[in-house]
Amino acid sequence: MKAKILIVEDEPAIQELLAFNVMQAGFQPLRAEDADSAWQQIRSNVPDLILLDWMLPNTSGVVLAKQFRADAHTREIPIIMLTARGDERDKILGLESGADDYITKPFSPRELMARIRAVLRRHMPAMPEETVAAGGLELSPAAHRVTAKGSSVELGPTEFRLLHFFMTHAERVYNRAQLLDQVWGTQVFVEERTVDVHIRRLRAALEPSGMDGLIQTVRGSGYRFSTR
Ligand code: CA
Repeated sequence: MKAKILIVEDEPAIQELLAFNVMQAGFQPLRAEDADSAWQQIRSNVPDLILLDWMLPNTSGVVLAKQFRADAHTREIPIIMLTARGDERDKILGLESGADDYITKPFSPRELMARIRAVLRRHMPAMPEETVAAGGLELSPAAHRVTAKGSSVELGPTEFRLLHFFMTHAERVYNRAQLLDQVWGTQVFVEERTVDVHIRRLRAALEPSGMDGLIQTVRGSGYRFSTR
């Protein structure tokens, strides 16, 4: 089955070019030119990935990414943000809004397709099905559920994989490069700072249950999941 890629882009020429490249790469393109039409598309056809332009009329890509992350139907769909901005602060803002990756215009179709494949691989690969438990947390890959002391924790797809890795590799310190390799995969072009953004999001999700302390920063080395 072809993976469906929803392209949310208001400039017709760029939307056309993206749809063409997505199709050439063997995916099925779905199109929208703003937030309303994106939601309309999603209601009739749930995509496997969303290519989201930052600069959209009315509702910006950043706001829309936050909406996708807040909605149960779209929470787990990976998002790649497209933008003309190359600024580092914008990049972090894009990732914090809920995007999984970020690509700056102009980009080569080859680079974009490589990133789409990497993000899809990251979200689709088989994960061991057994439920893992540690420090009051329980994570079920099969049900895609995390509970903290019995209450449900809502995580984005990358945070879910990150927590799964931590819980199955407790008490060991991993640096950013190791976490990128283990959780994101070696084919991904993301920068090491991306790890910090996802760690922050993971801690924020665990905070209400008071379990954010399980994810420890080891100064100068990286991060560790520890129940001690
Ligand atoms: Ca635009």
